Amino acid sequence: QRVLPVPAMGLVVLVGVSGSGKSTFAARHFLPTQVVSSDAYRGVVSDDENDQSATGDAFDLVHRIVGKRLRRGLLTVVDATNVQREDRGQLVRLAKEHDVPASAIVLDASDGLVRERTRLRTDRDIEPDALARQQHDLSRGRAQLDKEGFRRVHVLDADEAGTAVVELEP
Ligand code: ATP
Ligand code: MG
Repeated sequence: QRVLPVPAMGLVVLVGVSGSGKSTFAARHFLPTQVVSSDAYRGVVSDDENDQSATGDAFDLVHRIVGKRLRRGLLTVVDATNVQREDRGQLVRLAKEHDVPASAIVLDASDGLVRERTRLRTDRDIEPDALARQQHDLSRGRAQLDKEGFRRVHVLDADEAGTAVVELEP
């Protein structure tokens, strides 16, 4: 069983393609108020969590809220795919601006498992092309992820993601 040290006063950036299990992991380990989800804010601004045209507005809100929470020294988890380096970079900068550590947790389920889960999902309709793009974006940045300014980068395969425990550290 993997034990993941996570900064009690800091930022946790979940990283993983759609269907990799980010929201499931977040719900299992963190309080609802600690989790800031881009999908939830897409829904808030557009009435549709899947409306991609709402992405810009949703991330404006995600960044605002993350900033407010970090200013108060509250543990904050970003539930978004974060497969692009620039997206992770914005979050790392936000943590630095507030003088708190950022950690990444990469949910690295195999492509086959993700495709199968996606097929079975009823809460969302994900285009195979969109999924392939995410997988490509993530694989491109993977090797350099530990040089992006995170205090720690935890990479979990699907089994580990299901059994890992989070341990808050000062
Ligand atoms: P999205 O980016 O689309 O929001 P996500 O990464 O948040 O996706 P989840 O919604 O957490 O993914 O999970 C996708 C599907 O996989 C769900 O149906 C969920 O029940 C299943 N799943 C997630 N984690 C596990 C797990 N550890 N074991 C079994 N099934 C899982
Ligand atoms: Mg999700």
